[in-house]
Amino acid sequence: MALNPNNSNKKCRVFLIPQMSRGHLIPMTDFAKLLAAAHPDVEPTMVVTPGNAALINASLGQVQILTYPFPSESIKSTAETMGVGSKEETMLINKLSLLIRPAQEELLSKYKPDVVVSDALFYWAPSVAAQFGIPYIVFFPCGAFPLVVFKRIYDMQQSMSIDTDHITVSDLPGPKIEMPVRELPNYRIGHDEEINKIFDSLFGSWPDVFGIVFNTFRALESEYCKEYERVQMKRAYFIGPVSFCNTSNVDGLIHRGGEGDVGCLRWLDGKEDGSVVFVSFGSQCYFKSEQLHELAIGLEHSRRNFLWVVRGNNMEEWMPDGWEDRIAGRGFVVKGWAPQVAILAHPATGAFMTHCGWNSVLEGLSAGIPMLTWPFAAEEFINEKLLVEVIGCAAKVWDGGKRSTREEEHELVPGSVIAHAVFKFMEPAGGEYVAMRSKAQNVAVSALAAVQEGGSSHGDIRDLVNNLFGLIGSK
Ligand code: UDP
Repeated sequence: MALNPNNSNKKCRVFLIPQMSRGHLIPMTDFAKLLAAAHPDVEPTMVVTPGNAALINASLGQVQILTYPFPSESIKSTAETMGVGSKEETMLINKLSLLIRPAQEELLSKYKPDVVVSDALFYWAPSVAAQFGIPYIVFFPCGAFPLVVFKRIYDMQQSMSIDTDHITVSDLPGPKIEMPVRELPNYRIGHDEEINKIFDSLFGSWPDVFGIVFNTFRALESEYCKEYERVQMKRAYFIGPVSFCNTSNVDGLIHRGGEGDVGCLRWLDGKEDGSVVFVSFGSQCYFKSEQLHELAIGLEHSRRNFLWVVRGNNMEEWMPDGWEDRIAGRGFVVKGWAPQVAILAHPATGAFMTHCGWNSVLEGLSAGIPMLTWPFAAEEFINEKLLVEVIGCAAKVWDGGKRSTREEEHELVPGSVIAHAVFKFMEPAGGEYVAMRSKAQNVAVSALAAVQEGGSSHGDIRDLVNNLFGLIGSK
């Protein structure tokens, strides 16, 4: 689309540049919508490749789009987002996304927006913005808890021996965090140079950064928000849960991040309140066929209703014989994109089996749904700690065997374990489920209060917008 390169009026033009994965693209788009709603003179523009634009077009509202070409022709334009195509394509996109710096420089030089918001993973972006004298804001699509824990581990790393297999993270506001090193993100155990650069940038002195925006809300993790502000000494805005911005646009909510399957919502309509476990592992789940087979067996034998989002694999490779007939009426499989936030908000949904990606954590909490946790990558094991040990509204699917962020170390979680975990978790009388649901529901009440007029997240967005206008005025 055409934008006017010359900003002759008093508008605040904000360019938002997300990473090419839906776990980052979706919340940044929601953030752009919140900016547009906060002030009529803020003009947010999502700056994305055409393939990524296609995923957010349906739910943009006032937000504009500006596209730049994907940095390589080796990827089909329908698969420019991690998790959309094969696992190999996803790994390639992850690498290629590091090549977009020249495109970003060209766009900033041409359009000279008033402010740039970019994904925390683009570690070079603050210096690109500084090159053009444009104020820069980091968007961190996670909460303060994982970032504060990361920061402590980052500081401890220098003194950790290479063969340490267990880590205790102390000097934190809440409980002491203990975990096996293999559950830490690859940056610690894999010594990935690019990932180290991201953490160096996140925890460095950041002279060029105006502030950082988190998709969380203060009441959820107030001690950790304060701790972040104390150690990092940067302006921080806690503006979430951003997913609430879609509540009044049902169509936008269903097609948030992709073409949502509407059939599953109709199926939920026929189920008793709180009777269904929603099983979904985010936008990039590449379980092996053997694991999918065990999960199918586990859900079948759990004797509970389930709604399961499966993607990527050929169903014939893992589906047990006669499985579909046996689970008919009690189980529903979504083979594409699920309208996750709408599913979580549906009265029939009673539990969420999740990989603990931050968006899923926050969306589950915002709906007041207790969770069964099955983390397997990135910072997911740390997010699990927040749910299980700090808030107390979740239980682990499996605590036996070896769990790890490294795929080659994943142990098969047996179907019998999954069946038992789901059956026990959903025990309506007495069990731990009732207490966990009550804790999750309390969090949901405070999440809603945070985004309403007078709430902390609502206030932080206002402050951010005021600070931006102050900054532009002083230029
Ligand atoms: N999501 C969705 N439908 C799906 C799978 C995922 O709407 O079928 C959304 C989900 O609501 C969340 C995002 O995709 O907003 C996934 O982000 P998360 O941080 O949970 O996990 P990631 O995909 O980054 O691992």
